[in-house]
Amino acid sequence: MASEDEISLLVIVVDVNPIWWGQQAQREPQFTLSKCMDAVMVLGNAHMVMNRSNKLAIIASHCQESHYLYPNKHWKAGDFAGDDTTSGSGDGKYELLSVANDLIAEEIRNLMARTEVRGQQTDTLLAGSLAKALCYIHRVSKELEAGQEMKSRILVIKSSEDCALQYMNFMNVIFAAQKQSILIDACVLDSDSGLLQQACDITGGLYLKIPQKIALAQYLMWVFLPDCDQRSQLVLPPSVHVDYRAACFCHRNLIEIGYVCSVCLSIFCSFSPICTTCETAFKISLPQMMKPKKKKLKLAT
Ligand SMILES: [Zn+2]
Ligand SMILES: [Zn+2]
Repeated sequence: MASEDEISLLVIVVDVNPIWWGQQAQREPQFTLSKCMDAVMVLGNAHMVMNRSNKLAIIASHCQESHYLYPNKHWKAGDFAGDDTTSGSGDGKYELLSVANDLIAEEIRNLMARTEVRGQQTDTLLAGSLAKALCYIHRVSKELEAGQEMKSRILVIKSSEDCALQYMNFMNVIFAAQKQSILIDACVLDSDSGLLQQACDITGGLYLKIPQKIALAQYLMWVFLPDCDQRSQLVLPPSVHVDYRAACFCHRNLIEIGYVCSVCLSIFCSFSPICTTCETAFKISLPQMMKPKKKKLKLAT
């Protein structure tokens, strides 16, 4: 059992790529972004009421920005003060949660309303959102009182395709998380993500591509609500085969075998005499030049 004082911080990163969600609304009208956000709020609320020291943050990962949905600048302590008289919910729901949910819904509405899709940039800025999550975790850990401990994890809810252009930034974020012992979990709605498979494998998190999108809330509650200590007692979905291919630095293609710079470890799909990252010149013809010399030496002796 976790001790009473230990803080458990959960950061949820939701992929809100407007293009993917727009197509999704046409494919499956019963599972839209608002349904997904409902499921995220169910998980967030459940996490908050599990223990009074639990903390939560939600970041929306868009194709133009990463945005904090919760906690947010507009979030004021005064929001609760007059609530007991004006609150129309009356369904016995904990006020703090219903205010938080309303704010999250409003933030996501504002974010989607100010979206203008400009032709080029259609990939979700997932690496940036993860970096933001790490920064948030770091900030919270700095504000802890002496003797307090904090366990943190990041859950990514991913919808759109992977972007090989972000490979470098993504790997840097993964290794930073690993160093801070922060788990990265991934709940994938659509096509498998090699980058997230690696992230979960390296940080010890859980990767799950859910078979039915409509059951998102159930999977979140079953698989991703328990923290890593509780998970050891559950029978969870079996782990997947990890796609460990790396993206070459020249074309951002995923490759299994390639050329690696011996100085800076940059990866290339084809040989080039000068490393484009660190400008080291490779002397590939060197072994052939050495051969005749050796022969001569042998003859002389
Ligand atoms: Zn290449
Ligand atoms: Zn190099």
